[in-house]
Amino acid sequence: MSMTESETSTLTYGRGHSALLRPELGRGAPVLTQIKHPPPAPGELICRTLVAGVCGTDLQIFSGTRGETAQVLGHEGLGVVETVGLPADKPLIGKRIAVNPTDAKTGAEFGHSINGMMQELFVVPQRLRHLVLDVPAELDAELAILAEPLASVLAFATIVRSVSRPRRIALFGRGTIAHLIRLVAQDLFPSVKDVVVISRGDSQSYEPQGFDLSVMCSSIDAADWAANLSVEALSDGGVLYLFGGLPPGLLLPSLAYSDIGSLRARNTGGELGNKPTETLQHVKDGRVIVLAGHRGASNTLLLEAMQRITRSAEHFRPLVNQVVHPREAERLLKNAFEGLSTRQWTKLGIDFRRSKK
Ligand SMILES: [Zn+2]
Repeated sequence: MSMTESETSTLTYGRGHSALLRPELGRGAPVLTQIKHPPPAPGELICRTLVAGVCGTDLQIFSGTRGETAQVLGHEGLGVVETVGLPADKPLIGKRIAVNPTDAKTGAEFGHSINGMMQELFVVPQRLRHLVLDVPAELDAELAILAEPLASVLAFATIVRSVSRPRRIALFGRGTIAHLIRLVAQDLFPSVKDVVVISRGDSQSYEPQGFDLSVMCSSIDAADWAANLSVEALSDGGVLYLFGGLPPGLLLPSLAYSDIGSLRARNTGGELGNKPTETLQHVKDGRVIVLAGHRGASNTLLLEAMQRITRSAEHFRPLVNQVVHPREAERLLKNAFEGLSTRQWTKLGIDFRRSKK
């Protein structure tokens, strides 16, 4: 998707607020830059970012493996409404809000194709107003960056429960999604006895045909590895779940199915398509494998995620192990991008409250 005229024209350089701006050609770590938005147009909200999260998708966009075109990323986190374009919206001023990044109807993605929260002030365009949600007053701003990935985990659970009661789950990948699924698995699937995390460097717990739910939640560059093992990990009748972004043209070994993108697209924004899963047969050994996947979550699930995190803050806190100043985030992202240091964080938070001099 390419950026529209109106989106590029909303940003100008100059003394306004600091933003982690992507380099001109789209590939590379963001640079902390002063930019300006015009005053809000009717229906727009301008919000002050509290904390914005960085997720695996963002890192893939920085590294050029995905084509999203927003100049400022950031789809996780929360802000406070500061200025509004219409007098009727004045009651919103001062409210803490989050934006559901995935619009089930238009596919627009706040923080991917539309400028997001990795900046001190962000704009909610009028056409995204139906995706604006109140953040519970008791929700810790740092933990709020987990709400969007947790909502996506809730969407995953809804789809899996429509076809299966998993007992043994294998998670391929060790990012935030794998950690979150492990934290809430017992709660979401009462049938679960065992959850194992399998990563490229550590496949000790891997067992061929030992699981009834395989979840591909690795980074894009590990997707081929994850696809191979996750198919082979399943017992007859097991569910293969495609969680998160996949490289274009990815084929699942020994499963004659190439329409992965449309399977995920029909379960967008928490909507279950009229056929949310596909039943396939392994071409070599005849096992039946149920394929499932989704993109994003609904407003309802995002609210539910915020409530769960509010209720069990201490349960989720260990996942947010690094919340830093925007200047430090710029350095960490540059290092991660240039491979200068091994990433120390699972979920990085950028605290824009600290950017005030
Ligand atoms: Zn994300």
